[in-house]
Amino acid sequence: MRATTLTNFSGLGLGDAQIDNLTSLGYEEMTTIQAMVLPTALLGKDVIAQAKTGSGKTATFSLPLLAKLNPRHFGAQALVLCPTRELATQVATEIRRLIRHQQNIKIVILCGGQSIGPQIGSLEHGAHIIVGTPGRIKDHLRKKTLNLGQISTLVLDEADRMLDMGFFDDIESIIKETPKSRQTLLFSATYPEHIETLSGRFQKDPEKISAPSLHEETQLQQLFYLTKRSRKLNSLQTLLGHYQPESAIVFCHTKDTTREVSAHLNRNDIPALALNGDLEQRDRDQVLIQFRQQSCRILVATDVAARGLDINDLPAVINYDLPKDPESYVHRIGRTGRAGKQGLAISLLADRERHKLESIGNFQDREYDVTPIESLNNKSTMPTPDYVTLCISAGRKEKVRPGDILGALTGDAGIKGSAVGNITVSDYAAYVAVETTVATEAIKQLAAGKIKGRKFKVRGL
Ligand code: AMP
Repeated sequence: MRATTLTNFSGLGLGDAQIDNLTSLGYEEMTTIQAMVLPTALLGKDVIAQAKTGSGKTATFSLPLLAKLNPRHFGAQALVLCPTRELATQVATEIRRLIRHQQNIKIVILCGGQSIGPQIGSLEHGAHIIVGTPGRIKDHLRKKTLNLGQISTLVLDEADRMLDMGFFDDIESIIKETPKSRQTLLFSATYPEHIETLSGRFQKDPEKISAPSLHEETQLQQLFYLTKRSRKLNSLQTLLGHYQPESAIVFCHTKDTTREVSAHLNRNDIPALALNGDLEQRDRDQVLIQFRQQSCRILVATDVAARGLDINDLPAVINYDLPKDPESYVHRIGRTGRAGKQGLAISLLADRERHKLESIGNFQDREYDVTPIESLNNKSTMPTPDYVTLCISAGRKEKVRPGDILGALTGDAGIKGSAVGNITVSDYAAYVAVETTVATEAIKQLAAGKIKGRKFKVRGL
């Protein structure tokens, strides 16, 4: 008999309602990592899996934890630890999609940077699934507002990044509060030594699974251009003009460089925003909203500032400065070429940086060519963004919903619905993307009309 590979979800014993839900989400076939991990993980066994964001890893650990959940029991049964708030939010969103067909399952997000009071309130009402960052979860344990005594599944998501961020001790003290009988699923993009240590300490005879890199390579093109240090800004412009990515993150070593690079691009009619640790939370949120709403195509960031950005389907990643170590390189380029999409990772190498290319090649067990930037010799520039982000001075606290904004824009001979893009409502402000051609009209329409029976300030970002 020939062995067949399981490719659809129906052979896993998930139950008809979940299968129907997956079909309605468009999950027809399993991704590589799902096909490799789900059969084992659904048996309740520990797994250590090498998987990048975009591989379908969230569903890979969520389906097993959901399969074990008892909705009638209102205690925390599953805990997902993530390095950042952005990732935790993204994970919770995906889990909510996976339980669309079930009522009565509660998820609580516990992350820092947000007030702890409402989190305690949510926990008091009973939650089945906890998703959060180690620091804040430890705070709750200290306050005894969270009990992990009935956790049956523990997930460590992006474990390598959590360790890079210095969370080992917090993770250890959290795990000690969970029962030994739990299933532990560890996901990591890379396997440095400390991941082995973590696994050795907290997993029982884990099955080690990594998706074959061949699959990833076909999706991700890695290119290296040689330039001179003094010519780097111009070289970046040449790259952007030549490849014209729909959007891209440009990585730099330092905050100063992010400012210098974004200023240079803006001076040369390529709208770009800098994302660095100096930004206040509100400014950071606004930068990310503009990038997500496609009113700015280029984000210039440091590694630290870009950590945990949950930006899906990035068409390109550009290394303005190459990172110091090959692990960071792999992290950075992991943001492009996700879930079957084509990705492009372009790096600029200044004359003395060839040795870095060698260590990147060794790490990935392959060789890369370097092309002189002059070979591109391209004079075209990036197209300007199609959208502008407008900021309205009212948000969730004023009970504003996306429909109210859409209504205010399109009502009374207003602008066409098709000219309105993404609408994001935060606590105190709302952001709407409109096509650049109708921006002035949209501001007029919003300022003249009323939202929730009141007038609010509107400005273009
Ligand atoms: P993740 O790696 O978990 O961030 O997932 C990347 C994207 O792929 C998410 O938007 C998922 O909703 C989607 N996804 C996950 N599994 C599947 C699947 N089997 N088929 C289609 N899309 C999927």
